[in-house]
Amino acid sequence: MGAEADLVHAPLLTYASMLSLLSLCPPFVILLWYTMVHADGSVLQTWDYLRQHGQQGLIDIWPKPTATAWKIIACYAAFEAALQLLLPGKRVEGPVSPAGNKPVYKANGVLAYVVTLVTYLGLWWFGIFNPTIVYDHLGEIFSALIFGSFVFCIFLYIKGHVAPSSTDSGSSGNLIIDFYWGMELYPRIGENFDIKVFTNCRFGMMSWAVLAVTYCIKQYETYGKLSDSMLVNTILMLVYVTKFFWWEAGYWNTMDIAHDRAGFYICWGCLVWVPSIYTSPGMYLVNHPVNLGVKLAIFILVAGILCIYINYDCDRQRQEFRRTNGKCLVWGKAPSKIVASYTTTTGQTKSSLLLTSGWWGLARHFHYVPEILGAFFWTVPALFDHFLPYFYVVFLTILLFDRAKRDDDRCKTKYGKYWKVYCDKVPSRIIPGIY
Ligand code: NDP
Repeated sequence: MGAEADLVHAPLLTYASMLSLLSLCPPFVILLWYTMVHADGSVLQTWDYLRQHGQQGLIDIWPKPTATAWKIIACYAAFEAALQLLLPGKRVEGPVSPAGNKPVYKANGVLAYVVTLVTYLGLWWFGIFNPTIVYDHLGEIFSALIFGSFVFCIFLYIKGHVAPSSTDSGSSGNLIIDFYWGMELYPRIGENFDIKVFTNCRFGMMSWAVLAVTYCIKQYETYGKLSDSMLVNTILMLVYVTKFFWWEAGYWNTMDIAHDRAGFYICWGCLVWVPSIYTSPGMYLVNHPVNLGVKLAIFILVAGILCIYINYDCDRQRQEFRRTNGKCLVWGKAPSKIVASYTTTTGQTKSSLLLTSGWWGLARHFHYVPEILGAFFWTVPALFDHFLPYFYVVFLTILLFDRAKRDDDRCKTKYGKYWKVYCDKVPSRIIPGIY
C-alpha cells in the first residue's frame, strides 16, 4: 500500500487534520465529560471557567487515571477478549482484501453482547458490583483510556513494522501517516484474535451498550425513578447496538474493517471516542431527568426505531445482494446492477456487483440519512435547553458526509469507468435529489 493511497484528502489537509485530531480530541473528551457531569451540560459555564482559569483550569479538571479506573478497564477488556476468543460462533469469511487475502472470523457477537449485558445487570442485581461506580469514576476512566489507547496505537505501529499478521500491511514511508491511518489491515494476536474486531466491536460498540445501561442505573439510583426521556434514549441506543451485533458479520465487510487500517484514526476512535462521545446524550440525561409525557415519548421511540430499521435494511439489502450474487429480490423485483471489474494490488482481475436499485438506487450512500436521523431521535429526549447533547449528531453528520466522499473517491479509483456508470445512474451522493 503506497503513500498515495493513504492521502485520502489533499496532503496538507491530511496533515492538518491528523495533527489537530491528535492534539484536540483528548482535551475535548475531558471537557465534554466535565461539562456533562459537573457543569450542568452548559458549554457557556465551561467556557466561563476556562476563560477565568486558562490552561491551568484544564489541567485542574483533568482527572488522573486512578487504580479503580484501570481495574474497571482491565476487567472489562479481559472479559470481552475472553468472550471473543472462547464463545462459539459460525466461521465467516471477510471480503477479498486489496492484497487478495480472505480473512476468517468467528461470528459470536450476539452471544458476547447478551452475555455482557446479562452479566453486568446480574452483578448489579445481586449486589456484587454497582454500575454507578463506573459513572462516578467516568472522568478517570476516560483519562486512562486516552492514555492507554495512545500507547496501544504505538504498539500497533511497532507491530505493523516488525511483525505484520498478513501481506495487507505496509508503510507509507511517513511516520505520522503510518501512526494515524495504521499499517495493518487485519492485525491479529496469534491466529484467531483479531485486534480490529476487539477494538471496534467488542470494546467500543459494547461499551456503548454498557454505558447506556450505566447511565440509566445512575439516574434511577440518584432520583429513585427513571425519567421517560432516559428510558427512550436508552432503549433507542440499545436497539441500535443490538442491531449492530446482529449484523456484526456484515460490519466486517464495511470500510472500517475492509479498507481502513488499524491506526489512531480507527482504533483510538473506537477505544476512546465511542465510549465518551457516542454515549454522551445518555451522560447528559443522568442529571437532567426531562419528562416528555407518554405521547411524545412514544412518538420519538417509534420514529427512532423506524430510522434504525431503515438503516439496517439498507445494509442488509446490499449484503444480501452481494451474498446471493445478485440472485435475490430487492423491493420485490429482480435487482438492477452493474458488474464492475477491478485489479487487486497483486495484479489479479476480479469483479464486484454494484446494486443500483432499492435503497442503493435512491442515493449512493442513502443509508447515512436514517443513521443520522436515528441519532437525532435518541438525543431529542434531552429537548433543547443545551446544545452539547447534540454534539454527537453534528459530529456524525460531518463524519458521514466526509466518509461518503472518501468512499466515493476510493470506489472511483477501484472501479474506474464502472463507478462513473453508477454515478450517472444514481447521481445523488447521500440525499436523493439534493446532494
Ligand atoms: P458501506 O456499508 O456503505 O460500505 C461501503 C462499501 O460498499 C464501498 O466501499 C463498496 O465496497 C461497497 N459498495 C458501494 N456501493 C455499492 C453498491 N451500490 N452495491 C454494492 N456494494 C457497494 O459503508 P459504511 O462502512 O460507511 O457503513 C456501514 C454501516 O455503518 C452503515 O449503516 C453506516 O450508517 C454505519 N456507520 C456508522 C458510523 C457511526 O459512527 N455511527 C460510522 C460509519 C458507518 P466494495 O469495495 O466492496 O465494492
